[in-house]
Amino acid sequence: MSSERIHTCTNCGEPAVFERRRYHYLESGISNLYLQGVEVAECLQCRESEVVLPRLEKLHRAIALALANSPARLTGEQLRFLRKHLGLSGEQLGRYLHTDKTKISKWESGEDPIGPSTDRLIRLLVAALDNELRPGVSAIAEHLPQILDESGKVWELQVDVSTLQSTFVSVSRAA
Ligand SMILES: [Zn+2]
Repeated sequence: MSSERIHTCTNCGEPAVFERRRYHYLESGISNLYLQGVEVAECLQCRESEVVLPRLEKLHRAIALALANSPARLTGEQLRFLRKHLGLSGEQLGRYLHTDKTKISKWESGEDPIGPSTDRLIRLLVAALDNELRPGVSAIAEHLPQILDESGKVWELQVDVSTLQSTFVSVSRAA
């Protein structure tokens, strides 16, 4: 696709080539999130690589939608991502969930597990408070009975940056 494009390395000024790769998107704050088809410019000289993530808002909305449809209970880091996507402070989210920012912070750090009812309410809030996700709220509601609360599985979320399609893949449990 864009493998022929030439980019100048910001580190050494030599030409860099673009490649599309699978990228572990740690900047999202979510450990098991991988982006497919990400453009990475790698310098042939110094090996510095730069990741190009266009349409960040659309990408983050696709991730938020995927999380709202997650097969498993939301994790703390997923909650933090969703809260930030909605542009809410811990205190603001606490008002919606009838709790305080200390509790939100404990959920987000993994110190306290997110209860099953709260998990479901958060997913509906994501759809209700994001204008572009609102039309999908009934699909999210229909998914709620299928959430696995105690699956014991580790899920990896994969999002294709071109199509914005997402997939949850069950990966073997860490020993
Ligand atoms: Zn370089």
